[in-house]
Amino acid sequence: MNPYMTIKKVMKTAYDHHIVIPAFNVAYLPMVKPISDALVECRTIGIIEVSRPDIENFGAKSIKSVAQQYENDADPKFTFLHLDHVPVIDEHFLPVNWLAMINEAIDLEFDSVMIDGSRLPFADNVSITKRVVEMAHGKNICVEAELGSVMGHEPFPLPPYEEIFEKKIGFTDPVAAEKFVKMTDVDWLSVSVGSIHGAITGAAKHEKKVRARIDIEHLEKIKNATGIPLVLHGGSGIDEEYIRQAIKVGITKINIGTEVRQAYEEGVKIDERQAQENVKMVVKKLIDAYQVQNSIDILLR
Ligand SMILES: [Zn+2]
Repeated sequence: MNPYMTIKKVMKTAYDHHIVIPAFNVAYLPMVKPISDALVECRTIGIIEVSRPDIENFGAKSIKSVAQQYENDADPKFTFLHLDHVPVIDEHFLPVNWLAMINEAIDLEFDSVMIDGSRLPFADNVSITKRVVEMAHGKNICVEAELGSVMGHEPFPLPPYEEIFEKKIGFTDPVAAEKFVKMTDVDWLSVSVGSIHGAITGAAKHEKKVRARIDIEHLEKIKNATGIPLVLHGGSGIDEEYIRQAIKVGITKINIGTEVRQAYEEGVKIDERQAQENVKMVVKKLIDAYQVQNSIDILLR
């Protein structure tokens, strides 16, 4: 648990001031240090997070190893630790022992966790999210949930991107979102408004992501219906202008996975030092794009 600042308050202040908190996925343990160093040098508050694919498909090893690496290498004056995407049903539609993962993160004193019941029927997503909220809030840990589906983790090919966007496939419904937030008391909501996850399975994990867009009008409806910080997943590969507009209408946390992971993987072909240098450079580039240099001055004022 962060001894210097509380994630709930920082996210609320960020939401009120239209500032985004970038959240970087750790696909390999040595990424923690360059991510934290870049945040410190830019005086930007950010989140370091790990998800199941980071652990199972790449080199993050385990929830515990990321927590230890965070303890050793990250500066908690500028960073929080988050458990990303604990799915109730995974991308192969198999059940996941979500309770064990959430409990582990709570025991390790993560600042926040994400329960992803988005593949479940609405009522089941509500009841599991509510249960996680009760468990986590008892320890002052924040909870992110997902409604609608941000695609890309599936092992099969997606429909063409333009079709997803035009038909709003998987988009979060604002009316359902309003109900969901009231019923669960969740802290932040991951919404589907055009972004997609980077491919993480099969050959496509080495390919560049498609350029995604954001349906700003749709996002604004969700913002008005919910009134809580919204989270954008699949942050890599969205045109920066869309992201800047999205930050004005509720997006308070943005997840970046693919771009930092691929920067690390490119660099490590040379050596570890180059890999970390690459990660640091990408993080700084994104801080610049999201205009969050010195965000600590406003967020902790
Ligand atoms: Zn995600």
